[in-house]
Amino acid sequence: MVDLVSQYQVIKPEVDQAITTVLEAAQFINGPAVSGFQEDLESYLGVKHVIPCANGTDALQIALMALGLKPGDEVITPSFTYIATTEVVALLGLVPVFVDVDEETFCIDSSKIEAVITSKTKAIVPVHLYGQAANMEDIMKLANKHGIHVIEDNAQAIGSDYHMPSGDVKTGGIGHIGCTSFFPSKNLGCYGDGGAIFTNDDALAAQMRKISNHGQSKRYYHDTVGCNSRLDSIQAAVLKIKLAKLDDYISARRKVAAHYDQFLASFDGVITPVRGDQSRHVFHQYTMRLIGIDRDALNAHLAANGIPSMIYYPIPAHRQKMFSEFGSETTDLPVTDMLTRQVLSLPIHTEMEQDQLDYICSNIADFINAQV
Ligand SMILES: *Cc1c(COP(=O)(O)O)cnc(C)c1O
Repeated sequence: MVDLVSQYQVIKPEVDQAITTVLEAAQFINGPAVSGFQEDLESYLGVKHVIPCANGTDALQIALMALGLKPGDEVITPSFTYIATTEVVALLGLVPVFVDVDEETFCIDSSKIEAVITSKTKAIVPVHLYGQAANMEDIMKLANKHGIHVIEDNAQAIGSDYHMPSGDVKTGGIGHIGCTSFFPSKNLGCYGDGGAIFTNDDALAAQMRKISNHGQSKRYYHDTVGCNSRLDSIQAAVLKIKLAKLDDYISARRKVAAHYDQFLASFDGVITPVRGDQSRHVFHQYTMRLIGIDRDALNAHLAANGIPSMIYYPIPAHRQKMFSEFGSETTDLPVTDMLTRQVLSLPIHTEMEQDQLDYICSNIADFINAQV
C-alpha cells in the first residue's frame, strides 16, 4: 500500500546524518532532537503547544485523561474508524457512544450528534478519516453549545487545511485537543512508533505534559496518576526531516488520487472519493466504494496480480467483541454498515510511478470489464 523503501532511498543522506548525530550525542530521550521537532511542528500546524508522545493511541488516551472525566461519562465517536479511537474510551472506564458517518466524507455525520448528547456526554472525538476532515464547524458549534470538549483524531489527516470562515486552519488545531500518530505508514511517519498531541490551551497542555510523564510536576513529585509516553530522539530526528517535506508528500499523494479519479470515472458502480469543499483532502488512503461490483473478488484479483488493496475497516467498532458489554452491536448505524461492505482502498504513496499506476488501473479494468 505504501513504498517506504523508495521514500527512504530519496532522503537517505539527510536521515542517516540526523540519526548519526543522535547516536554520537547519545541523547536518546528528550534533548534537542525532540524539542527541535516539537517547535517545527508547532509552527507548521499553527498551534501553541505540541506534546510529543509514544504513539497515536497514547495521544488519544492522554487527551481523554486530561479532561478529568468520571467512570461512566460518555464520549461520542464514529464507529467507522481504526479501533484505537474507541478502545481508549473503554480503557478509561468511559462509555463510547457511536454515531453514524456521512456516506460522502466517511467522517462522523455531524447532523446525528445532537440527538445522542446527554448530561453525561463530555467529549466528541471526530476522526478525519482517510485524510479528509469531519465537519468541524458544525461540531465546534455543538460542542460550545453543550459545553463539551472536542478531541480531533488527526492520525490520517496531518497537514490538511480546513477552511474556516475566519481563514484556513490546520486540522488537529481546531478542537480543544488534536492527536496524531507517526506510525511509519502515516502521511508523516517515523521509523518506529511515535505520536503527538496538540492544543492551544495552556492549562490542558500543562496537564497533558504532566500525564505523559508519570503525573510529575517536578522531579519525583507526582500529582496525578499518569503514564510514561515519550517520543524518542531518533524518531524525532527523522520526523524533523520528513515534516519539511510533508507538503510535497501531500501533493504527490493528491496527484495519484487525481489519476485514479480520472481513470475510475468511466466505470459504473465505482464511487471515487468525494472531496468535501470544507477541507483539503490529504489522501492518507484512496478509498473507493463499489456498488454492484464484487469487492472481495476484486481484492482477490488484484492480490493475484501482485497488487495490494485493503478494506479499511471490515468490522466497525460498534460490532467488535471488545465492546459487547455496551451492547453497541444493536446501535443502528446503517451508513457505517453499508460502507463496511463497499469500501476498498488502493495503493497510494509518495513515490508512485506512472507505470505502477497504469498496471493497477489496467488490472481493475480487466476485472470490471470481465464482470459485465
Ligand atoms: C493510526 C491511527 C491511530 C493510532 O495510532 P498508533 O500510533 O498506531 O497508536 C489512531 N487513530 C487513527 C484514525 C489511526 O489511523
